[in-house]
Amino acid sequence: VRTIGIDIGGTEIKAGIVDDTGAILRASRRDSEPRDPEELIRRVVELVDELSGDAPVGALGIGVPGLIAAGTGTLLRAPNMPGIDGTNLGDRIGGETGLPTLIRNDADLNAWGEFRAGAGIGTRHMICLTVGTGLGSGMIIGGQLHAGATGYGAEAGHIVVEPGGRSCGCGGQGCLETIVSATGIVARASDRIRSGEPTILVEAGLTAQKVHDAAAGGDAVALAVYSEVGRFLGIGCATLMNLVNPELIAIGGGVSAAGDLLLGPAIKEARHRAYPEVFAACRIEQARLGVEAGVVGAGLLAAEMVPERRTD
Ligand SMILES: [Zn+2]
Repeated sequence: VRTIGIDIGGTEIKAGIVDDTGAILRASRRDSEPRDPEELIRRVVELVDELSGDAPVGALGIGVPGLIAAGTGTLLRAPNMPGIDGTNLGDRIGGETGLPTLIRNDADLNAWGEFRAGAGIGTRHMICLTVGTGLGSGMIIGGQLHAGATGYGAEAGHIVVEPGGRSCGCGGQGCLETIVSATGIVARASDRIRSGEPTILVEAGLTAQKVHDAAAGGDAVALAVYSEVGRFLGIGCATLMNLVNPELIAIGGGVSAAGDLLLGPAIKEARHRAYPEVFAACRIEQARLGVEAGVVGAGLLAAEMVPERRTD
């Protein structure tokens, strides 16, 4: 069965027709509209019309960066999309397109994409961490996406790793996301620049990409930041390993492009901190689907809603 997968981000809406192997047959995109729900819905419906023009699709899966109440299509809280909070995107978009529509947290759908068509193929228990502006996560336990009692489960980004640390968007303090994220990388690099450590980095206009490039060029401050952030990622991984005993922790998202710079210290730290038997059973690897993971996961999870034998 063919479905449409959509990944709504703060700046862009990505969409694609996804087949049952997770391949994207056709793709399209629009700028996002994080403030106006009506305009956002209009753009999503337009993408669905555009993509489903030639061949029928069975269902629609949509990922959004926020908390979705279990069993509903209502987006309760989306810190990066003010204005969309409280909108029942599922009912609205499902109603306008006439397609069975599933709405889930974007990091959950990234995880489902990696599980079915990426780094997690062949596993039954895996965790996918999406390290971008923030730190999203999704968890597959026994082949099922873990949602929790009310749909807010598997938020590994909000494990506390630094009790007196920076304030987090969730209202807490010292969450893993405040360190292991593009935002965290910039904050830590800025601290070191301000304290006068010699570096080619400058605070104005600093991005995680610039810190990464400086690290790749051998800048000591940038290298120290990545090594610290990697260590914290490893602490998070060890906690998740001991809790879940997964076969795989896949690290995706823009920041994961740093590869060994981040994963090297993470794996070393996790080895120190997790039960040796638990560590031995688990790989920590880069995710494989890249920026398309959300579209693929949305399409594949939506396909599960379609009955195998249609009667029409
Ligand atoms: Zn938090």
